Amino acid sequence: MPARTGEQFLKGLRGAREVWVGGDRVADVVDHPALTGAAHALAEVFDLQHRHADECLIDDPETGEKIAASHMIPRSRADLERRHKALRRVAEYSVGLMGRTPDYMNVTYAGFAGRPDEWGVNGNEEGAARLVAYQKFLARHDISLTHTIVHPTIDKARGDSPKAGDPHSLRKVADTEHGIVVRGARILATLAPFADEIAVYPAAPLPEGADDFAVSFCVPMSAPGLKFICRDSVSASSNRFDHPLSSRFDEQDAFVIFDDVEVPRDRVFIDRNLTTYNTVMKTSWPPNIQQQTMIRAATKLEFAWGVALRMAEAINAADPETQRMIGEIWTYAEFTRSAVLAAEAGARDWGMGFWACDQRPLHALRATLPLWFPRVNEIIRLIGSHNLFATPTAAQFADPSLRPLIDRYLPGAKDMPAEQRVRVFRLAWDYAGSALASRNEQYERFYLASSARNLARHLAFTDRTGADRLVDRFLNEPL
Ligand SMILES: Cc1cc2nc3c(=O)[nH]c(=O)nc-3n(C[C@H](O)[C@H](O)[C@H](O)COP(=O)(O)OP(=O)(O)OC[C@H]3O[C@@H](n4cnc5c(N)ncnc54)[C@H](O)[C@@H]3O)c2cc1C
Repeated sequence: MPARTGEQFLKGLRGAREVWVGGDRVADVVDHPALTGAAHALAEVFDLQHRHADECLIDDPETGEKIAASHMIPRSRADLERRHKALRRVAEYSVGLMGRTPDYMNVTYAGFAGRPDEWGVNGNEEGAARLVAYQKFLARHDISLTHTIVHPTIDKARGDSPKAGDPHSLRKVADTEHGIVVRGARILATLAPFADEIAVYPAAPLPEGADDFAVSFCVPMSAPGLKFICRDSVSASSNRFDHPLSSRFDEQDAFVIFDDVEVPRDRVFIDRNLTTYNTVMKTSWPPNIQQQTMIRAATKLEFAWGVALRMAEAINAADPETQRMIGEIWTYAEFTRSAVLAAEAGARDWGMGFWACDQRPLHALRATLPLWFPRVNEIIRLIGSHNLFATPTAAQFADPSLRPLIDRYLPGAKDMPAEQRVRVFRLAWDYAGSALASRNEQYERFYLASSARNLARHLAFTDRTGADRLVDRFLNEPL
């Protein structure tokens, strides 16, 4: 089956699943008021790949059918550049506000399948083979996949990973004739209501004796016992004038409970194998996935720069401080764009002919973007000031008694019509101040771990040889 259309994607979402939003056990995620905006936005992402097939689709190397380019296993720098175009196209659709469009997991699993040797360590060759087969299934059925990799935080003093006997974290509890049974929780699963399947794979390494927690697998959202508790919705009304972003881009985040879920054997990629679990994410995953995440981030920052420019123009804020702050956003956008290009320029074969980026620029971004994005929101709110709230709604514009007064008293500078001015400030507030904006800021602070954690671990991803050489010259001088 070739790449799906939006209609096919929505049809797939209407299947059975246990998703909770507020007090509702959602009967149909496509029609639920808190979910329908994002469901249809994601359908547009599926349609987009057909509209821009030249950029977004590639030939399946075995079947010849058209599949999404994000499923590509890159074999050269040119492949990465080709993938860049597709990832950028998807990122532009939500202006980077949806972090976990299905291309995120497509890229992740293409990377896993590109390095079966990493998954096959310590006698896990069969798990690796199952994963390679699963990735083909993913690509050929154009599956929308959510994922959850973090154990629930119950007592931080006990560390990031569960120890033997932990009653909360996801673990294997039994073998069955056809697979394994897993029990416990994980946090979070962004995109969950809009996924066909959920993936579980490693994050923080597990300690000795925690073998039961060393599992990796994928199951359909309809698997009995699988429950998703969504956070409060940040979707606003469906009116795109009033809420240009939060009417459609709330990708949701859910707490996941596996209440004795049976995973079929062909979907189990790690089965109580501590060594595989603790090593598999360490090599090619970061430089592979971060091409997707940083293209998205660059797109979002460029959009923020554009919004700030438009706000300043709407009120003719040409003062040096406003221009300085806008320039600050531009530097974040430009550094991010340049770092992605540098990472692609430094791409190499990471083993088995699998190509991924130079990870150093991407890791620098990973540690810094969680600080930049909140600052960007602050700048937009500072420039916008009270203007962010002088923003009549579509219904108020439509009122014949109000419209002439709004047009007369709320124009922008240089004869900008009131409607245009209001559109600019509504867009800015939805980006930087709305409930969606607040959720997105939290996402940027944490989605690839906190800045603090990434900075503290920077030596794991860098080569200090050059820095040492520069310093040693002075330390080794004769007395
Ligand atoms: C909106 C959102 C969506 C998400 N979506 C997903 C998803 O789809 N799938 C998924 O698996 N996970 C998801 N996550 C979870 C995400 O992966 C984790 O939140 C992330 O790994 C950070 O978790 P943490 O609490 O361990 O962060 P930490 O890095 O522990 O940070 C928490 C706090 O501790 C501080 N800190 C960190 N290290 C230290 C230290 N050594 N000493 C002192 N203080 C320290 C930090 O500064 C921060 O204040 C999502 C999270 C958010 C917020």
